[in-house]
Amino acid sequence: MNIHEYQAKSLLRAYGVPVSDGRIVLRAEEAKTAASEMDGPLWVVKAQIHAGGRGKGSFKEAEAGEKGGVRLARSVEEAAEFARQMLGRTLVTVQTGEEGKQVNRIYIEDGSDIERELYLALLIDRQSSRISIVCSTEGGMSIEDVAHDTPEKILSFTVDPAAGYSDYHGRRVAFALGLTGNQIKQCGQIVKNLYRLFVDKDMDMLEINPLVVMKDGNMKLLDAKMAFDGNAMYRHPDIAALRDESEEDPKELAASKFDLNYIALDGEIGCMVNGAGLAMATMDIIKLYGAEPANFLDVGGGATKEKVTEAFKIITSDPNVKGILVNIFGGIMRCDIIAEGVIAAVKEVGLKVPLVVRLEGTNVELGKDIIRNSGLNVIAADDLKDGAQKIVKAVKG
Ligand code: GDP
Ligand code: MG
Repeated sequence: MNIHEYQAKSLLRAYGVPVSDGRIVLRAEEAKTAASEMDGPLWVVKAQIHAGGRGKGSFKEAEAGEKGGVRLARSVEEAAEFARQMLGRTLVTVQTGEEGKQVNRIYIEDGSDIERELYLALLIDRQSSRISIVCSTEGGMSIEDVAHDTPEKILSFTVDPAAGYSDYHGRRVAFALGLTGNQIKQCGQIVKNLYRLFVDKDMDMLEINPLVVMKDGNMKLLDAKMAFDGNAMYRHPDIAALRDESEEDPKELAASKFDLNYIALDGEIGCMVNGAGLAMATMDIIKLYGAEPANFLDVGGGATKEKVTEAFKIITSDPNVKGILVNIFGGIMRCDIIAEGVIAAVKEVGLKVPLVVRLEGTNVELGKDIIRNSGLNVIAADDLKDGAQKIVKAVKG
């Protein structure tokens, strides 16, 4: 789960990490008052969307002179004008895809005088099963570009979870970033507090780009991106409350309402499977036979007919789906329930693409009968391999 920059900054503030003073603005009329609560002489007006690259992004239907989603204003009036221009517009950045994202919230910040822009991130490194601290002197630009052009300028350190964090980690980061004097101490404090926040809140990723050295020599975090482990949100109601549903894939949002484990992907074959392992195997075998899965979906063990119907609706609402593979091993889940759900869903939403159904396990004959007698044009499959081959053939010919 992701949150907005201004929400991330309020968490950072609570953990004693230096960020600028700022105000959130939801309506253009509020912008002037919000900006006037800060002294200036520089205000930063920032579009709040769950995507990076805002500064270099551009608005759809932008008028002449209107630039990206992060703008520097020299007066309260100018800040308010920038906020008015951005609100309600669609911002396109390298991370949003060409459809862009609508800007519904603006953050107005007290501007900082920047001397140097640095990069700092904490993330779960699955290779080493540790939290990894990644840093670079090349801040303020896309880290993907730095990784591509000058990979030697990205350094990373891991923290041994048994020994835990110690001040030397912070010093290593400070030296890697070429910091001197009091900045080494400041950097150490920052990394230490970020680590604490990361662990406390079950984050997956925390990216600060840029971390800056200001003209006065002090350090500050000017941008923050946070992603949390969705499976840990039950123990962080404060974080869960920060969720902005308008930022999420509508298909994933619908799935979460019905407690379905669904992740949208960009292939052409929709999958409905029970069990995460079987769902992964199904995606693999689809790829093996030359096609791409359109989603991961685990309907779970105790799925009801309604849940299956809902899952089917979500799959068919994806315009990229050119065929559907239902692959159910009925252990706890009964095959007849799945069959009824599929039939009900097809009757409700119609079937415009080929559908292959592979059922095995509890009540499998009953399930097959239900599908056979439904009069629907369903292709039956005997096993996983057969199912995958049949759906790929039906889609690709
Ligand atoms: P992003 O483009 O979505 O990553 O948004 P950022 O918050 O990182 O802002 C983009 C760029 O705007 C930064 O890399 C800085 O160069 C600039 N910027 C952001 N905040 C300030 C500020 O307080 N003062 C100045 N001078 N520039 C800023
Ligand atoms: Mg940034």
